Amino acid sequence: MTLISNHMPTEELQALDAAHHMHPFSTQTDLAKQGARVITRADGVWIHDSEGNQIIDGMAGLWCVNVGYGRDRLAEVAARQMKELPYYNTFFMTTHVPAIALSQKLAELAPGNLNHVFYAGSGSEANDTNLRMVRTYWAQKGKPNKKIIISRKNAYHGSTVAGTSLGGMTGMHAQGGLPIPGVHHIDQPNYWAEGGDLDPQEFGLERARQLEQAIEELGEDNVAAFIAEPIQGAGGVIVPPESYWSEIQRICDKYEILLIADEVICGFGRTGNWFGSQTVGIRPDIMTIAKGLSSGYQPIGGSIVSDEVAEVIGNCEFNHGYTYSSHPVAAAVALENLIIMEEEGIVDHVKNDVGPYLKEKWEALMDHPMVGEAKIVGMMGSIALTPNKETRAAFAADAGTVGYICRERCFANNLVMRHVGDRMIISPPLVMTREEVDILIERAIKSLDEGMARVKDEGLWVAAS
Ligand SMILES: *Cc1c(COP(=O)(O)O)cnc(C)c1O
Repeated sequence: MTLISNHMPTEELQALDAAHHMHPFSTQTDLAKQGARVITRADGVWIHDSEGNQIIDGMAGLWCVNVGYGRDRLAEVAARQMKELPYYNTFFMTTHVPAIALSQKLAELAPGNLNHVFYAGSGSEANDTNLRMVRTYWAQKGKPNKKIIISRKNAYHGSTVAGTSLGGMTGMHAQGGLPIPGVHHIDQPNYWAEGGDLDPQEFGLERARQLEQAIEELGEDNVAAFIAEPIQGAGGVIVPPESYWSEIQRICDKYEILLIADEVICGFGRTGNWFGSQTVGIRPDIMTIAKGLSSGYQPIGGSIVSDEVAEVIGNCEFNHGYTYSSHPVAAAVALENLIIMEEEGIVDHVKNDVGPYLKEKWEALMDHPMVGEAKIVGMMGSIALTPNKETRAAFAADAGTVGYICRERCFANNLVMRHVGDRMIISPPLVMTREEVDILIERAIKSLDEGMARVKDEGLWVAAS
C-alpha cells in the first residue's frame, strides 16, 4: 500500500507544496515565501501540524466538521460501502440503497414540505442546480420570463460560475467577468457596519424591504427566486435583526417568489436547530445543503426541495446532473453522520448545553477594548474589531489589515479563528466541550490582547473618518 508520507521535514513539504500545488483563496507567492502550515492529523476538536503543534479548531475545518474529527464509524462505513458498491450513478432510471436511505432521512429531518433531494458534490454545485431548477420550474409553469434571482451583497454561495454570481463578493466578481446576467444584489442586513442611526429593528425592515423594491423595479413577472443564507457565514457571520426574516418571508409570499435558503453552513445543527430556517422562522421552497451534511468526511451537497417544486420539475426531463450526484460512498457516510448526530443529541447540545455556555463567554468578549460587537447564534459567532466602540468606527487602515494581524496572533497561539475584513469569526465543531470552549476563549483573548498591542505599535489604532 502506498502511504503518503508526512515524515519529510516540514520545509521540504512546504517547498514541494509551493512548487506544485495551487491553493484556493491564496496568493501563491506569499504562500511560497511563508510556507503553508502542514496539517497531519486531527482528533475531536484538535488538529495537529507537522511541527507537533496542537491547534484548537475554532472553524471546524471550513465550517463543516460538525461531529468532530476522528470518527472511526464514518471511516468504517466508507470502507464497507467501497467494498460493496464503490460507485454507481443515479442517471437513466437507476438508483442504489445509500441514495434512497439518505433521501428518506433528509426528508424526515427537513421541515414542512421539503421532502425531495437532488444531490451534488458540493455546495457550489448545489447552487448551480438551484439556479437551473428555479428557472425550469417557472418555465414549466408557463412563466419563462421569471428568471432573475435576487441575492445579497457580501453573500457567499460558492465558487463556481453560478455560485460566485449568486454570491455578493466583489473581489470574486472581479475575476472572470462575473456575475452572469440575471442575478440582482440587494444590501445585506449588517447593522454594525451599515445601520447608521437607525434602530436595529427599523434597519432590519429597511433592508428586507429592498427585496420588495427590487421585485417592483425588475417586475414580478421577471423574478424567479430570492436566495440567502439564514445567517451570512463567510461574509462575517452577520446576524440580521429579528425584524428581517419575517418581512422577507412576507414579501416572497406576496409576490410568489421562490425562497432558497442556503443552509450550507447553517444546516445540521450549527444554529441550534437542524436547519437555520427553523431558527430564523422561514419556510423555504429549496434548501442548499453541504458541509455539515457529511461533517466534511466526504464531499457531498444537494438541494432539498418542496413537494410543489419537485412535482413541477418532475413533469419534465430535467437535463441536469453530476457524475457524482448521490455518490454511494458519500451518501453512506452522510447518513451515518446524521445518525451519529441523532444518537448523541448534538443539536440539543448546541441549543441547550454547550451552545448557551459558548454564547455567554463569547458575548463577554464585549469587555475587550477592541471589540465593538459580539454576536453568536448556536455555534457560529463573530466579533467586530473597532478603535471606537461608541461610534462603531471602522479602522482607517484598509479593511482586513487589523483582522489579519489578529488572525496571525490566533495562529501563533494555536487557535484557528478566521478574519473577514476586521471581523473575527468562529464556527467550531458542534461536539466541543465546556473545557474546550474555555481554552478557545482564553486563546482568543490572548490573541486579541497581542493583536491590539501590535495594532497600536504599528500606529494603526486610528478610526476612519
Ligand atoms: C461553503 C458554502 C458554499 C459552497 O460550498 P462548497 O462545498 O465550498 O462548494 C455555498 N454556500 C454557503 C453558504 C457556504 O458557506
